[in-house]
Amino acid sequence: MIQSMNTTPLNNSLLLQRSLSAVWHPCSQMKHYETFPLLPIARGKGVWLYDHDGKRYLDAVSSWWVNLFGHSNSHINNALVEQLQVLEHVMLAGFTHEPVVRLSERLRELAPAGLGHCSYGSDGASAIEIALKMSAHYWRNTGKPLKTRFISLQNSYHGETLGALSVTDVALFRDAYGALITQQAKVVSPDSRLAAAGESAQAYAHRCADDLELHLQQHHEELAAFIVEPLVQGAAGMSMYHPDYLRRARELCTRYGVHLIADEIAVGMGRTGTLFACEQADVTPDFLCLSKGITGGYLPLSVVMTTDDVYRAFYANETARGFLHSHSYTGNPLACSAALATLDIFAQDDVINANRSKAAHLNYRAQSLRENPSVKNWRNTGMIWAFEVDSPHEDFAQRCFSLALQNELLLRPIGKTIYFMPPYVISDAEMEHLVSRTLHIVETLS
Ligand SMILES: *Cc1c(COP(=O)(O)O)cnc(C)c1O
Repeated sequence: MIQSMNTTPLNNSLLLQRSLSAVWHPCSQMKHYETFPLLPIARGKGVWLYDHDGKRYLDAVSSWWVNLFGHSNSHINNALVEQLQVLEHVMLAGFTHEPVVRLSERLRELAPAGLGHCSYGSDGASAIEIALKMSAHYWRNTGKPLKTRFISLQNSYHGETLGALSVTDVALFRDAYGALITQQAKVVSPDSRLAAAGESAQAYAHRCADDLELHLQQHHEELAAFIVEPLVQGAAGMSMYHPDYLRRARELCTRYGVHLIADEIAVGMGRTGTLFACEQADVTPDFLCLSKGITGGYLPLSVVMTTDDVYRAFYANETARGFLHSHSYTGNPLACSAALATLDIFAQDDVINANRSKAAHLNYRAQSLRENPSVKNWRNTGMIWAFEVDSPHEDFAQRCFSLALQNELLLRPIGKTIYFMPPYVISDAEMEHLVSRTLHIVETLS
């Protein structure tokens, strides 16, 4: 029997020291961990994370927006254990397996009509790479090789690999690597916070769609696709916009012969109140990208769903006309099983409807928070809430994060924007914990 190498009991400070010496943490300046220590997590259950000293934290950001049905969910756990006994992995080129077939069929039934073909990647950014490459390759295969450019929204976020970064508009992530990426144009964001005084979110969405139209008119001959985060631009600070923008974007892309790529990596899987955000505008994109919540927050997996029209453009005798993209773990059976178990929960617990009353309840409980004079632009779409805090502190995000931990809460503000994106299993009492502790934090920092 193979012995596990290390059996010394761990505590927070020991693990923290070892992590800082051996692990390069993502999206961080490592030096900042000298002042704002890492938090070693020992285990999770439901909405709670527990550290090695026994303290608990309500995971109000679903561990970077991935967790849907709580940590250590028994249904997903069981599905994984079952799959583990049978097949952990097999390559998907030249082979297939039941979990990937069942998942693809179920997604096809659930997604907006017409998206019948599923192509798999390992994480969100790889799904974006797939969609961008597939779109440009489609145009090449159909005799329009000049259509190789992409547009996205201002303040968009589509991931951090070089292709995904070229359609991402978050300066911090993009500027250091600007020399490495192809610069792609950005069009005005329909973020309703940017509406003129007295202008409705809907009117502003139409004004932005007019701007998109102008761009498409001028550049459609070189454009492969327009990529967009439907309804909510996550990394922009949970900016929310009117669904009319998507409706118009679909019409315009069709009219000008440009693909529409819906990046539902963050907003898919029920986050915005419907299983897919595109449903709220009643549109079918040419490419639908899913990741994050698709495995319930368990394992890395992403999928790009596309149409018969796109699929047929690649179907030929020549290998070079086929879609040339692969990842070692494409369609991993364990990840697909976690995704199937996640879809089971949606069906069995009527999650979309249940979330409607949960969201209403949280809005009701949050009354004194929303009415606090330092809370600006309170907004909510489905199971996402966000607001800006009028605070004098330049380092608000760090202070808020630390103070939240002291209050048994995991919040990770974006600038001065606090957002909630809790696991869907959050109970009434846990919502009360979330909003009352947040109110205390806002009062302290404003
Ligand atoms: C997280 C995210 C991505 C990138 O996914 P990764 O798994 O982090 O590579 C892309 N688009 C959106 C909208 C996201 O929220």
